[in-house]
Amino acid sequence: MQHEKLGINTICTHVGETPDEQFKGAVSPMFMSTSYEFMDVDVKRYPRYFNTPNQEYLSKKIAALEHTEAAMIFGSGMAAISTVLLTFLKAGDHVVVQNDIYGGTRNLIEKHFESYNISFTFTKDLKITSFAACIQPNTKLIYIETPSNPLLKLVDMKAVATLAKSEKVLSVIDNTFASPIIQNPIDFGIDIVLHSATKYFGGHSDICAGAVAGTQAHIDTIWQTGIALGGSLSDFTVWMLERSMKTLAIRVKAQQRNARKLAKFLDAHKAIEKVYYPGLKSHENHALAKKQMKGFGAMLSFELKKDIDAEVFLKALTLIKPSMSLAGIESTMLLPSKTSHSLLTAEARKEQGIKDGLIRFSVGIESKKDLIADIEQAINKTKNA
Ligand code: PLP
Repeated sequence: MQHEKLGINTICTHVGETPDEQFKGAVSPMFMSTSYEFMDVDVKRYPRYFNTPNQEYLSKKIAALEHTEAAMIFGSGMAAISTVLLTFLKAGDHVVVQNDIYGGTRNLIEKHFESYNISFTFTKDLKITSFAACIQPNTKLIYIETPSNPLLKLVDMKAVATLAKSEKVLSVIDNTFASPIIQNPIDFGIDIVLHSATKYFGGHSDICAGAVAGTQAHIDTIWQTGIALGGSLSDFTVWMLERSMKTLAIRVKAQQRNARKLAKFLDAHKAIEKVYYPGLKSHENHALAKKQMKGFGAMLSFELKKDIDAEVFLKALTLIKPSMSLAGIESTMLLPSKTSHSLLTAEARKEQGIKDGLIRFSVGIESKKDLIADIEQAINKTKNA
């Protein structure tokens, strides 16, 4: 199959199916074997070598979705992120990191890199000049995450890729929040794309997985570290992930449609102070979103008016779940100040613009009217409490 000519739903449904030569079943067979014949074969297969049949074929789907040559699947997003960073950063190297990245990645860098003698600088803000200002003679990599969590701020991917090329360093992006349905960083010149596949790829809040996509040469290099660190995923979960990814595009598009409408509804609501969604004209990066995203995604954040307590509001919801993770088909909300960003000092949160009452909303596929009704009744209940 020539991927370039296929539509996105065909890629999701069919590219990277594991062949069923024996029975010609409609779906991929699951190969749970951890032991494969080694006589007279070209490929020595083993789960931790990331090359069992299910791993090998599903990687092709991820590579096709990210418009690149190759991919690897990991046991979690953090396994993918740590393996990539420890592949390209060695003792004595320096990395430039966007300041508001996922807390787990920040934790890896802040708590562990010093003991590996890898230095790092977090950018002051998301402007390209701030990235350029952090470059040092020993910089090897620029790490970004756009849209960012939880305020959905954007980084200019093309500008970062251009800077990285001119400085002869690698550019790496965590594309979890957008998914390849909404954003293809490789098309803007970014070298390596990471995912927490626990999120949109899995989509049903029942899989923990990670992925990385890039050129064959980059993936071959990452593979050397990957087999040493051992962050591979069980083949049962790889099979589940393939099943989930068949509906990736229709899920994400349905979630995005809902998010756009919910953002407009919240923006016009008297009880809402502010909405953060790249699709709104009021968002600071709306113009950049139109340039580099194919839509505006299904994540948004909002603040309630001062007289409405955010915690009481979340408890009053009956359909939308106050829950930690994101990107599932079910809508969830959380308070970053109490969850994803609770380890930051109040001062650091303030600096990033994350108010204590800020609510992050991962919009699902439920009927829009039911989501609106739930928010409406929770606001009324909270006001009257
Ligand atoms: N990147 C982002 C943007 C995330 O939100 C998360 C988890 O929430 C991760 C990476 C880490 O992924 P995992 O939990 O699958 O290790």
